[in-house]
Amino acid sequence: MDETQFDVIVVGGGAAGLNAALVLARSRRRVVVVDAGEPRNRFTSHMHGFLSRDGFDPAELLRIGREEVRGYGAVVVDGRAVGATGSVGAFEVTVQALGGGAPRVLRGRRLVIATGLRDELPPIEGVQEQWGRGAVACPYCDGWEARDSRVVVIAASARSAHQAELMRQLSDDVTIVGRVTAELETETLRGLAARGIRVGDQDVVRVERVDPARERPLRLTLEDGSTLEADAVFTGGALVPNDELLRQLGADTVAGPMGEWTASDPTGLSSVPGVWVAGNSANAGALVIVAAASGLTAATVINYDLVQEDIALTLGR
Ligand SMILES: Cc1cc2nc3c(=O)[nH]c(=O)nc-3n(C[C@H](O)[C@H](O)[C@H](O)COP(=O)(O)OP(=O)(O)OC[C@H]3O[C@@H](n4cnc5c(N)ncnc54)[C@H](O)[C@@H]3O)c2cc1C
Repeated sequence: MDETQFDVIVVGGGAAGLNAALVLARSRRRVVVVDAGEPRNRFTSHMHGFLSRDGFDPAELLRIGREEVRGYGAVVVDGRAVGATGSVGAFEVTVQALGGGAPRVLRGRRLVIATGLRDELPPIEGVQEQWGRGAVACPYCDGWEARDSRVVVIAASARSAHQAELMRQLSDDVTIVGRVTAELETETLRGLAARGIRVGDQDVVRVERVDPARERPLRLTLEDGSTLEADAVFTGGALVPNDELLRQLGADTVAGPMGEWTASDPTGLSSVPGVWVAGNSANAGALVIVAAASGLTAATVINYDLVQEDIALTLGR
């Protein structure tokens, strides 16, 4: 068997890519998953909002996912795809193994790009160290754990007001801080005040643990040197799609609320025939269960697309 020729190359082995590979491998498609092993939620050990897996370790979900896809014959490569060329039926993906060595080229009839996104955190000392632990972004992922506690939202943009509004549903002790609060609409400020959310207009310059041995509470130092304690910090910066391969392939993008994203139809098909996107590559707002589901959707459409191509090839069309 040609070890470099596949029906489908899946780039990205998070929930989206692995679920696509699972469904394709169960359809007896020859599938390879190329994964650099840096899922977006790697900073946390608990995942919420996934029925039957609430509180599960996301790394364990992916470990099991890899095992399942391998069980159906899919190949999982620990590597980074550094280049993608070609067109429907004949794509080539250049892969650099994580352990080093010469790059190799994989060939596939279809591509699934499920490379996710990067969170560009606000440039505040200590935020990166606390990310995924005391400092988080998503009220649906980590809000319940912060219920009835002191919540501080570090405003990275005017959109941060949403985090404060959502967290007020879970705690009556919510503060939003940062110079960008000066840019909030009057109506938004009125709403925050009406709900008893405190607004501070100084930037946070440092975030650190009060007790180095415990994830919470956190101490926030403001511009004037004053400090604020929080049991949970919500923040987040720009969401940046890992879309280098899609750009190489010439995929169209579209401006959306989260930024410039790859354009795709409801099945994940991009503007490049034969190239699908799934998970955060398709939708910046996709949480894990949605990412996994979009991988499944893309896989079913790709399999049928290949079925049609196989019929045409057999008929000599
Ligand atoms: C701190 C934090 C906590 C979160 N908590 C939750 C939660 O509780 N519940 C929830 O549902 N969601 C949560 N999320 C969101 C969750 O991380 C995403 O929904 C999910 O990771 C999206 O899955 P994905 O498969 O699209 O992308 P990812 O999981 O990011 O996987 C993409 C994979 O592609 C790989 N990759 C990228 N580029 C390449 C390349 N060129 N070649 C090869 N591989 C590549 C990456 O290394 C990665 O392994 C959280 C996010 C963060 C940041």
